[in-house]
Parts: sequence; C-alpha cells; structure tokens
Amino acid sequence: MKNIVFLGAPGSGKGTQSGLIIRDYGIVQISTGDILRGAVKEGSELGLLAEKYMNDGKLVPDSVIIGIMRDRLAQPDCIKGFILDGFPRTVAQAEALDQMLRSELGTELTHVISLEVPDELIFDRITERRSCPKCGHVYNLRFNPPRKADVCDDDGAELIQRSDDTRETLGNRLKTYHESTALLKVLYAKRNKLKVVDGTRMPAEIYEVIKGFLE
Ligand code: AMP
Repeated sequence: MKNIVFLGAPGSGKGTQSGLIIRDYGIVQISTGDILRGAVKEGSELGLLAEKYMNDGKLVPDSVIIGIMRDRLAQPDCIKGFILDGFPRTVAQAEALDQMLRSELGTELTHVISLEVPDELIFDRITERRSCPKCGHVYNLRFNPPRKADVCDDDGAELIQRSDDTRETLGNRLKTYHESTALLKVLYAKRNKLKVVDGTRMPAEIYEVIKGFLE
C-alpha cells in the first residue's frame, strides 16, 4: 500500500513525478488545486469562494479544503493507495488528514516526499508553463515546448496559461508555500516519514530516487 504525500513548490515537478508513480503503481493522484480549478470553471459555490484566494496566491480556508478531501478520500478508487498533491498545506490539514485516515479509512500515510527546487528556477519554470485545457497536458515553453507553437501535441487545442501562473501571484504562492511547508516538514520528519529529493535533476533521475524510497 502506498499512501503518499507529495510536498513541493508550484513547478517543482510534482505533476511529472506523480504521473510516473501512477503509471507504475496503479494508484490515484488527488490534487486539491485541480479540484478547486474544476470548481472555479463550473462556477459552483465552492469555485466562487476559492477563486479570490487562488488569484491572490493565498490558501483557501482549512475547513473548506478538509471537507473536500474527506469526500474525495472516501471514494472507492482511493482504497489501493493515493498520491496527495497540494494537500496538506497546513498543520491543521495534516492533523485532519491523519485523523481521517485512521478513523474513517483504517489506514495511514506511508511516504512523504518533498521535491525541492530553488525559487529562482521555479520562476522560470512557472511563468513559462502552459497547459492544454482539453487534456491537461502540461508544457514549458523553454524546456518542454509543444511541437507547434501554442497548440497541444495530443489534441490540437490552444494552450493556456493558468491565471495564477504570473510573476505577481507566484511570489505570494512561493512565500505561502515556504511558510506552511516548513512546519509540515518538521512534523513529518519527527514521524520519520519525510524524504527530501533534489528536484533540479532530470525527471528520470529524480524518479529513480523516488522509486528507491517507495520500493
Ligand atoms: P496548486 O495547484 O496546488 O498550486 O493550488 C492552486 C491554489 O489552490 C493555491 O494557490 C491555493 O490558493 C489553493 N489550494 C490548493 N490546495 C490547497 C490546500 N491544501 N489548502 C489551501 N489552499 C489550497
């Protein structure tokens, strides 16, 4: 059983690594950011509430996020294991997660992986990040560009930039990330669950290191 928490700043490569883990271990990835963006797109009550926090690069309140995750983790596809991407982001969320796993699902976290990349590199990666609104394929204009400018290789849809992937919002997101994650790292290190991985290496090399932890 692999119940993984993935820590890492926006643009640290969590999405790429999660894709490889899903492929090899047959577990699901749950991204609170994706769930919230879906709600914003739908224009649901949750989306309307979340949007203003997201556009400022601030955290959505714990009670809202914990409620979303309680529902999501109760879905049957989580039984085989999961990767949590973007959750927990605060100590209160981490504690609620522990409690949910223990009392509602009879399980616990098995691995916490922190993928670390210096902020200067993150700025380059994120401001050049584009994604396909149709299939979710993520590109980087400099490091991993689409074959034809601004168009998805897989389905030809026009690529978009996430509205919070701008320099201004990113500064806030990174500040918030470092403040909250520092506390989470202490918490998980105390429990002997934390593994720190150098996220500046090539994706395949990083994945070898991660697989070493998971085996
Ligand atoms: P991400 O895609 O993980 O970078 O998340 C995008 C935005 O969604 C964040 O900047 C927050 O505003 C919000 N968000 C995502 N996950 C959480 C969480 N666990 N707690 C609070 N806010 C969150």
